[in-house]
Amino acid sequence: MSRNYEKEEDILAHEGDDYERFLGAVVPPIFQNTLFVLPTAGNGIPEHPYVYSRVTNPTVEVVEKKLAALEHGEDALCFSSGMAAISSAIMHFVEKDCHVITVRSIYGPTRTLLKDYLPRKFGVETTLLCQEEAMHLEDYVRDNTRLIYLESPSSGVFSLQDLEYVGKLGRERGIGTVIDNTCATSLYQKPLDYGIDISVHTASKYLGGHSDIIAGALISSGQICEEIRRSERANFGACMDPHQAWLMLRGMRTLKLRLEQHAKNALAVARYLQGQPLVKRVYYPGLREGEQKELIEKQMKGFGGLLSFVMDGTAERAELFMDSLTCFLKGCSWGGFESLVYPFSVGTDEEFNRENDCPANLIRLHVGLENVETLIADLEQAFAKVTDGR
Ligand SMILES: *Cc1c(COP(=O)(O)O)cnc(C)c1O
Repeated sequence: MSRNYEKEEDILAHEGDDYERFLGAVVPPIFQNTLFVLPTAGNGIPEHPYVYSRVTNPTVEVVEKKLAALEHGEDALCFSSGMAAISSAIMHFVEKDCHVITVRSIYGPTRTLLKDYLPRKFGVETTLLCQEEAMHLEDYVRDNTRLIYLESPSSGVFSLQDLEYVGKLGRERGIGTVIDNTCATSLYQKPLDYGIDISVHTASKYLGGHSDIIAGALISSGQICEEIRRSERANFGACMDPHQAWLMLRGMRTLKLRLEQHAKNALAVARYLQGQPLVKRVYYPGLREGEQKELIEKQMKGFGGLLSFVMDGTAERAELFMDSLTCFLKGCSWGGFESLVYPFSVGTDEEFNRENDCPANLIRLHVGLENVETLIADLEQAFAKVTDGR
């Protein structure tokens, strides 16, 4: 795939533009068609590479060009959801009775796929590692290990894995490596630069950015993308709809601006939380502190609006705090314009916390694009409600 721009702002604004092909339209049109009429001697249609929109579509291709350029991949593929991209990347590497290594802190449905579904259906064995174990991941490699699946940072306590180390290990041992790069985004972490084979994303979060599309993507080498395009994507059929691609394109044009504001607001909220007596610990990579500081500064160029904290006291107290918020809406997703609160491990049992490699009473906040003083005032009044009820 050819690339026309180097700088991220230019890629977001213009990569994939083709004024000649799209009749000067400043925004690429939505090719809302299933099939493309093939050229024949009689119909006068010029040569073109398109056959059927499940396999290739010009609007979807514009998004794919942008993503490949942003993450230094040779190519990219879009999907109907993040889980479609994730499951296609996983299916590309696994085979019957093979062994997979992953981390405990991965996204829930991905864990279910690796830990329950693939073992039950295809005899796959999955080893789940906590953060410390993942730092010497080679100890867990077996002869039949076919895939190392990472999520760095994870979206609970933002554990990082060492991408250079894992990329090198995968290359040396011939093991496929996949990372869910959603949390860091295509702007702030470039896993392919460290030798990771596939970077996967849900675009339902920051890439879309407006809480109005479910979408996914992966970025990889030309060869891997071509294989997945012809095999997992075409055969399982989880292709991206052209209209969804167009909305994603619109979201991506402001990705950098949005993320900068999310990070500014989130850092202010994180610092505020650190000064609160009811807060035991704040997790936000943008604070650049803690035992993973060095890795954060090596791998990540920036941060978004997602952070979490451990609330002192009972689950009831944490519930009261969350229910007292008015600007932070209660909801499970993140990456949109709106601020959200989510009970990540409030009232969960020890088994859940061990399985997710997270502490108890963890509240996750997505800091949106609202005025930051409004957001902090909202947290302040919720803390006051909890203190009064003590
Ligand atoms: C939301 C999420 C997903 C799933 O994405 P969908 O588009 O909802 O399928 C995958 N990984 C992470 C880290 C997520 O937060």
